[in-house]
Amino acid sequence: MSRAAFSRQKGTGALVVATGFRHYEPFIGEYGYGRRPEVVTLPDFIRLLDRSDGGEFLVHNGRPVRSAALIHCVGSRRIPGVNDAPEGRRQNEYCSRVCCTASLQAAIEFKKKFPDTVLYELYRDIRAYGRGHEDYYLEAGRNQVIFARFTPEAPPVVDSADDEESALKIIVSDTLLGGEQLDIPVDLVVLAVGMEADHASSLVEMFKLPVGADHFLLEVHPKLRPVEVAVTGVFLAGTSQAPMDITESTSAASAASAILTRGYVELDPFTAEIDPERCTGCGDCIGACLREGALYRVEGRDPRLAEVNPALCQGCGVCVAACPENAIELAGWTLGQYEAMVDAIVNDPSSDAAGGLS
Ligand SMILES: Cc1cc2nc3c(=O)[nH]c(=O)nc-3n(C[C@H](O)[C@H](O)[C@H](O)COP(=O)(O)OP(=O)(O)OC[C@H]3O[C@@H](n4cnc5c(N)ncnc54)[C@H](O)[C@@H]3O)c2cc1C
Repeated sequence: MSRAAFSRQKGTGALVVATGFRHYEPFIGEYGYGRRPEVVTLPDFIRLLDRSDGGEFLVHNGRPVRSAALIHCVGSRRIPGVNDAPEGRRQNEYCSRVCCTASLQAAIEFKKKFPDTVLYELYRDIRAYGRGHEDYYLEAGRNQVIFARFTPEAPPVVDSADDEESALKIIVSDTLLGGEQLDIPVDLVVLAVGMEADHASSLVEMFKLPVGADHFLLEVHPKLRPVEVAVTGVFLAGTSQAPMDITESTSAASAASAILTRGYVELDPFTAEIDPERCTGCGDCIGACLREGALYRVEGRDPRLAEVNPALCQGCGVCVAACPENAIELAGWTLGQYEAMVDAIVNDPSSDAAGGLS
């Protein structure tokens, strides 16, 4: 392995992208959001709970919240053809992973602070995946949170209440009760919104960062190189990569920092090498190069010969083919080595190629 200290290269040696996520913003009218002040998102609800200073009921919009319902999977796990995103919005088919546990935690806090209330959790699946997170589900049950399960084909409908007692009503078919339709009067509807990728497109463009189909940044390999992207020297940490909780985000960050604290980065040894005796400085290789900055002209020399930045060169070999002077070779894959390989194959009497070519 060749080693190159990035500090010897021009500019920043390494970059950790930890730009995080943004909350899914429901569209106007999604479960009444934006039309009814009694429909809020889970982060709004958590803030309301944090700010509440006792009393018999949580107060929202000047009204006591005697009953509330949390709706899961808002903006996540969409199924194309079943519940498509509206035009211009991302079709988030992935599970945002943290919202189930966050909803259960909020539900428990609500019921503990305001025990004389009724709270429903309307869910598709409970995915309390983290260590010990199942306990939140059990604790929510012990605190009389009422669970009702709906299908993707029949999500809950939020409507105006039939009387003055409540602000809204929710209509949902509960598969736990064999599909029985429930009409639930509520004062507050909480939408458990998911996570969306939040990297400024300028950052993606600037560093040519690979973006996955889900719009999160894409690692080279989920198991072998889980915090590296195809761009050398760029590392991922946290939810810029995928929905995850704080424990996972910090362990991804420490994986990136472990690489950085070594003080050097191991580079791929198969990079382009230029023969200064042959190079005429025509620049054809720079024009053909797929990675900006991987090939450049040496300033102050005449002719300004091309030079390789091994930290950026991906060893694709495009420049080798582009050079009219045969002045570029790929380390480990030189033209001489190729020719020797072909000769060896051709001259091997046991090889099919030898038979075919002779
Ligand atoms: C409703 C809800 C409740 C949750 N509750 C929990 C919980 O109880 N426990 C738990 O473990 N996890 C919880 N999570 C998940 C937790 O919020 C995330 O795992 C965590 O915030 C991820 O951290 P991060 O650093 O990757 O991203 P973020 O927290 O989003 O931080 C990224 C930071 O980067 C900044 N940034 C973005 N772009 C740029 C830029 N171009 N230049 C400079 N800075 C930039 C942002 O402003 C932000 O400050 C919850 C998530 C949700 C949605």
